[in-house]
Amino acid sequence: MRGPAAPVIRGVVAGTDTESAVSLLSRDWDGVDAIELRIDTMMAPDLERLLTCPRSLPVVVTVRPQWEGGKFQGTENERIKLLEEASRLGAEAVDVEHRAKSLPGLHERTSLILSYHDFEGTPANLNEIRRDMEAREPREVKIVTTARSPKDLVSIRRLLGEPREGVDLRRTAFCMGSIGLPSRILAGAWGSAATYVALEKNQASAPGQLTVEDLQAVYGQGPVDPDTRVFGVAGNPVGQSLGPLLHNRFFLSEGRSAVYVPFLADSLNELIEVGPGLSLFGLSVTIPHKNEAARLTPDLNPEAKACGAANTLLFDGVSSVPTRGFSFDGEAAAQAIEDGVGGKDELKRRLERGPLVVVGAGGTAAAVGFALTQRGARGFLVNRGKDRGEALAKRLGLSFRGLEDLGSLDPSVVVHTTSVGMAPDVTECLIPASALPSGCVVMDAVYRPIETRLLGLARERGCLCISGLEMFIRQAAMQANEFAGKPFPLDWARELLLDALGEEKVLGQ
Ligand code: NAP
Repeated sequence: MRGPAAPVIRGVVAGTDTESAVSLLSRDWDGVDAIELRIDTMMAPDLERLLTCPRSLPVVVTVRPQWEGGKFQGTENERIKLLEEASRLGAEAVDVEHRAKSLPGLHERTSLILSYHDFEGTPANLNEIRRDMEAREPREVKIVTTARSPKDLVSIRRLLGEPREGVDLRRTAFCMGSIGLPSRILAGAWGSAATYVALEKNQASAPGQLTVEDLQAVYGQGPVDPDTRVFGVAGNPVGQSLGPLLHNRFFLSEGRSAVYVPFLADSLNELIEVGPGLSLFGLSVTIPHKNEAARLTPDLNPEAKACGAANTLLFDGVSSVPTRGFSFDGEAAAQAIEDGVGGKDELKRRLERGPLVVVGAGGTAAAVGFALTQRGARGFLVNRGKDRGEALAKRLGLSFRGLEDLGSLDPSVVVHTTSVGMAPDVTECLIPASALPSGCVVMDAVYRPIETRLLGLARERGCLCISGLEMFIRQAAMQANEFAGKPFPLDWARELLLDALGEEKVLGQ
């Protein structure tokens, strides 16, 4: 569903030869409203062939010079001539740089898009630049900067919200780069006339550009308007997060005006300080910001308080101080194990029969250890580093052991919480087969791949295996309960993610 504020989606064709560009121009692209044809990337472009080939979408012709980040090497006169020729041949619009010394003479059917690009950052005088551009009365101004911090996203949103003098004037603005990605996704909510996408994978023509498939499948289809609530995942890295797919699909199925985006952030504080300017209402927090999340939040759930780490923050949209913080990792892992063994009582029985072994002493170990010791588990915490391991073991009331002791602990439940075995190092495994007695429960917090080497070994030994995906979907459902007012069904989430992960699920075997 495309709402009233939906921006024009322009798919970029930036090939190297005329024929491959013609074949892209002739195709029907679901979810694309117009094509930007980058003449500057092509060797000896045949404009006539390009613009008169059978095509169903309007075309914006761009001949980006090197001085504006493009590839065109000819003279300015040659460039302007190409743009005029494109107009004569039927281009619906041409994109001309604001810094160009002169503008092409255009046929009346061709609109002028006046553009400005900054590949280094987002200048402080954006509004001045916009005013200068709009004073030249193009059909559209397009201002594209590079986000260096979340503050730049707010500058772009403000720019889009500035009063407009001409009713007909269209204004497009967004930030390039991974930090800028939310501004491409939120273009419609913020009033941008257009957003740009790559038509195919590995075809991005600018840093941070999404494919049309990702924009459609992961982000853009819910109702989007200026009141859209923004949620997201904050961390570094965040590019591989499955959160956007899961939460956006759920918002869509619930008919909510909300979007969940990846916020690449070096500092969590920097992001949440500008949260109100982004209409930010909730965050999932991941590596390396979980401890900072807890420090910045006065009201924490017991698990977050005990671990000094939070993976979920809520905001009221007005203040940058989180209204509430939660850690759901431990509870999610404990519930995944309970569901895997057949219920709370069965887990209790198993924990009475033999010890719990938590492997690792990081944030996940603290959360999982908290939730399981709250359920009466006793046993061992095993870690490579002694000081860190001993400190956490003491806090949890577990006994510390080194990795070399793993074979002698005879556990009933093993939870692996380090990142060993995570893609791309899928053949690694910290726990030897001899440490996994037949019948014991083995859970791996790692979920990419879903079937890790550890789970493969455990399965061979006749253990009951629980994947990190089960923990992931449960903590995400708890987040959805906070973000959307209700949790999503676990079966729905599992199916969606198994489908999205495709062959990646079995890389560890
Ligand atoms: P973390 O805080 O960085 O914990 C690192 C722990 O792993 C430390 O105990 C460290 O030992 C140990 N470790 C790291 N590399 C090691 C190696 N090569 N050999 C031995 N020990 C090693 O990480 P975290 O935030 O707890 O996350 C850990 C894993 O859990 C990640 O893979 C993450 O994706 C996963 N996770 C999954 C979910 C889920 O929903 N399924 C949720 C949260 C996290 P030292 O103390 O000796 O350095």
